[in-house]
Amino acid sequence: MDNNALTTEIVIVGAGPGGIAASCFLTKYGIHHVVLEKDRYPRDKVCGDACSGKTALVIKRANPQWLDEILSQSDAFLPSWGIRFVAPNGKPIDIPFHSNRQPDTQAPGFTVPRLVFDNFLFSKIASPYCTVIQDCHTEKLTQHPSGIRIEADAAGRKFTVEAKAIIGADGDKSLVRKTLFDGPTDDKAYAVGLRAYYSGITDLHPENYIELHFLKEVLPGYLWIFPLPNGMANVGVGILSDVVRKKKINLRAQMLAAIENNPNISGRFKNANLEGKIQGWGLPLAPGKGQPPLSGDRLFLIGDAAHVVDPFSGEGIGNAMYSGMLAADAIKACRENDDFSAGFIRTHYDAVFYKRLGQELAISAAMQRSSKYHWLFNFVINKAYKSPALKNTISCMFTDMDLRNELSKPSFYFKVLFNR
Ligand SMILES: Cc1cc2nc3c(=O)[nH]c(=O)nc-3n(C[C@H](O)[C@H](O)[C@H](O)COP(=O)(O)OP(=O)(O)OC[C@H]3O[C@@H](n4cnc5c(N)ncnc54)[C@H](O)[C@@H]3O)c2cc1C
Repeated sequence: MDNNALTTEIVIVGAGPGGIAASCFLTKYGIHHVVLEKDRYPRDKVCGDACSGKTALVIKRANPQWLDEILSQSDAFLPSWGIRFVAPNGKPIDIPFHSNRQPDTQAPGFTVPRLVFDNFLFSKIASPYCTVIQDCHTEKLTQHPSGIRIEADAAGRKFTVEAKAIIGADGDKSLVRKTLFDGPTDDKAYAVGLRAYYSGITDLHPENYIELHFLKEVLPGYLWIFPLPNGMANVGVGILSDVVRKKKINLRAQMLAAIENNPNISGRFKNANLEGKIQGWGLPLAPGKGQPPLSGDRLFLIGDAAHVVDPFSGEGIGNAMYSGMLAADAIKACRENDDFSAGFIRTHYDAVFYKRLGQELAISAAMQRSSKYHWLFNFVINKAYKSPALKNTISCMFTDMDLRNELSKPSFYFKVLFNR
């Protein structure tokens, strides 16, 4: 193969968690591919650093030993056993991820700085089926009847890649999406988030519960405090970009003001130190309504490039990895049927994605819409604070989709309000 003219089956643009997951599964299926990454590892990504059970599931499917490695390194990966919700009035409820935990149960999620996590994943990408090119600047992307052509530059070396199909895994400002995708984009389904690292925050949960604080000033978004290894914590705020624009919110000033003055959290930051800079990034949320396309002719969008971040929790790592895994599965089917047409991909990728995650994303969008009614939030959390039965119901909602669906229905709040 000419080093400046690569020919392969699949090209993946972007080596974040989504692109890496896709690569690992393509390797599993023996499919040759090239991965183009614009940065050089180890590289950071602004994030809350919380990895859900979905992330763990994809890693386990890729290789169970990798998950064991993660769970055995508690100085790098911190197991988390639940979520603390704090209502706008300051009342907290602690919801364990498992309502019925056995002694040998593994923590369903973990937290880890993305600098460490993405580098861990990247270290697993090497295989005889995968060629990775870092520091790669994509100059031109074109589609022709029999494939995709990329012209790129890596540290001054110009080269081309020819492939049968492309996976766009290049994040929230995806060039692949902009250039090759002709589906709709919902500009309103976009949030912006800030991330800061702190040391010395007090009263973190002994089982590393992640904390979501629905402060009145940031609704319909929230402030989070996610414990990390070595006494650190990831602190941030996320809110719809639309709201930031309309209310002319200075998110950074608001976050720092909350940390300093909000009576529910300020005491815990008394001896805390901000480590490094506060940084911002966008979150392309899955739109609440409909199931917009994720693909096209010879094209698969995954992760942030596909706009599949959970609209309520902001979870994007698990969704990126899951969509990467499903894209690889679909590519296997495309290859077996020699069919990379938009119709075939829609049936084998989009439809499967929405069958598995469509309901979850729709419920989250409904929950995100209802969270702006802060009096309702206060009321439900007040009730749960006093009622173990209601608390247990909410706990089960994290693992049971039908119960979680209840949380997005007006009738659920009616029953809580009127004690039915
Ligand atoms: C403030 C904030 C907090 C968040 N908190 C959480 C959280 O706690 N838990 C969670 O699950 N999710 C969270 N998310 C969402 C999560 O960070 C993303 O959904 C996730 O990183 C998506 O993974 P990805 O692989 O699709 O994209 P990315 O992680 O963005 O990776 C894309 C990769 O593509 C590369 N790239 C970009 N353009 C090009 C190009 N032209 N050519 C080649 N390479 C390119 C980039 O360098 C990068 O390596 C948060 C997001 C934000 C902004």
